[in-house]
Amino acid sequence: MNDSLPPSPSDETAPSNETASAKLNFVEQAIERDLAAGRFDGVATRFPPEPNGYLHIGHAKSICLNFGLAKKYGGSCNLRFDDTNPTKEETEYVDSIMEDVRWLGFTWNELRYASDYFEQLYDWAVQLIRDGKAYVCDLTGEQTREYRGTVTEPGRNSPNRDRSVEENLDLFARMKAGEFKDGSRTLRAKIDMASPNMILRDPVMYRIMHAHHHRTGDAWCIYPMYDWAHGQSDSLEGITFSICTLEFENHRPLYDWFCQALKIHNPRQIEFARLNLTYTVMSKRKLLQLVQEKRVSGWDDPRMPTISGLRRRGYTPESIRNFCAEIGVAKFNSTIDVVKLENAVREHLNRVADRRMAVLDPVKLTLTNWPEGRVEMVEAVNNPEDPAGGTRQVPFSGTLYIERDDFREEAPRKFFRLKKGGGVRLRAAYIIDCHDVVKDADGKVVEILCTYDPETRSGSGSSDRKVKGTIHWVSGEHAADVEVRLYDRLFRVENPDAGAEGETFLDHLNPDSIQTITAKAEPAVAEAEVGTRVQFERIGYFVVDSDSSPEQRVFNRIVGLRDTWGNMEAKGRAD
Ligand code: ATP
Ligand code: MG
Repeated sequence: MNDSLPPSPSDETAPSNETASAKLNFVEQAIERDLAAGRFDGVATRFPPEPNGYLHIGHAKSICLNFGLAKKYGGSCNLRFDDTNPTKEETEYVDSIMEDVRWLGFTWNELRYASDYFEQLYDWAVQLIRDGKAYVCDLTGEQTREYRGTVTEPGRNSPNRDRSVEENLDLFARMKAGEFKDGSRTLRAKIDMASPNMILRDPVMYRIMHAHHHRTGDAWCIYPMYDWAHGQSDSLEGITFSICTLEFENHRPLYDWFCQALKIHNPRQIEFARLNLTYTVMSKRKLLQLVQEKRVSGWDDPRMPTISGLRRRGYTPESIRNFCAEIGVAKFNSTIDVVKLENAVREHLNRVADRRMAVLDPVKLTLTNWPEGRVEMVEAVNNPEDPAGGTRQVPFSGTLYIERDDFREEAPRKFFRLKKGGGVRLRAAYIIDCHDVVKDADGKVVEILCTYDPETRSGSGSSDRKVKGTIHWVSGEHAADVEVRLYDRLFRVENPDAGAEGETFLDHLNPDSIQTITAKAEPAVAEAEVGTRVQFERIGYFVVDSDSSPEQRVFNRIVGLRDTWGNMEAKGRAD
């Protein structure tokens, strides 16, 4: 921290302390106000996922925020599994969530489970009953809803609202002992059935659910509701700032009511806008549906917006953190263009990924003046953005492959790639000139005939000849065949959730979201380990997928070199 340094008077553009504090986001402002006012003497946050699915990029926003604030203010952040709904929760999800948080680069202070607090929560519920602040209610779910009233009409009191403390204690104990059927009774807080805030109309604290829990087994057949578990768990952990998404804003009075009724530490709940992204869906329920209906290969399908999907796709943790920092936190919901996420990984990989050459749609090119059988090693720069990245040797010979699209028999003047009668530089090698082509019976070019100009070798040639274009290539006899999976967006439309009557998000799946091809790559590529990310020059960023075998590497396209979706969509093609 350089708080103690006065801003330099000679440099008008240096951020003064004043502008620095003006840049605090609204969560930071609230934290600093509370710290200054002495409400809390430190920052303790938590990330509280329910283990009912894999984490998605929206959770990454919450993770970056909670762990980031703890780091910024020298505090701590817990990972707490909000495991109060046994029917949807599984250990597989718990494990994947821990893996994802670690992969994103964060270390939790303590690992907790809401289920650790079941006993304490039960005792506290008994305390509220004794204080006349909670009662056992016999209304069915449907009746409870009906009694709750509407936004414009007050609710009605439950016929059981004035049960005696003794009767409530007895019934609640019997609920816990398993005497009653699922859904037959609830424990409710006695607050105000006429409150303008519907959440305060005697909210349910416990429901009966004879279900096996992934951690507590069959010990419990009553389970706490979110509102009853969440704030009390925060309180027990000494959390100071309980950060959640906007839909919990009207739960805040209840959060505070419970803490105050129990006379326990009362954290401050702060709500922020959830992340929505274009061209995808973000709810775990929908992601689960995609997995269960096998619309994707699994939670880690590289087209999924899950952390594990993005990881497998080749995203780096840095790029996701940078994206979250860039979008910031706000109080109003909005949808972020997925291009921002793609740009974040592009920007990072541009700096760190080695360049390699691979030809995705190969056509043979023969150098007719190349000495028979000769092979030269040419030196190629690994990463022009990284001086420490060094160089590598790439074999060059008289039989090459180039991209079909880099050649035209007849081309407009501005086509700076290879055309008949024209010249082009082969990256890191020579300038070549095309004089003829060989075609098959259908008139398709199957071989391009060129001469190379021996004086133009990159870095050492004596000629100062210049050409406008440079293209990539691989040497035919040295090239490795690699499988390349070209991913595209999983959905065709910006907002798959918005559709005409009778449509669901599934109707908007992009039928061409994966295309698998075999490419020719320079030999170094065939040895890259799973997880290695490279830039295939002039094409995009790719990562070695875990489906790779020693015989064949499989590459996922992470992202193209630039955003081409807009153009392709306009042209109505997806190549
Ligand atoms: P979903 O609706 O996708 O199932 P959820 O909110 O039920 O998400 P939880 O496991 O309860 O998922 O969420 C854990 C934390 O992550 C919560 O604090 C929640 O507010 C936050 N979170 C979930 N989705 C988003 C999102 N899209 N943007 C920001 N934060 C999110
Ligand atoms: Mg949830």
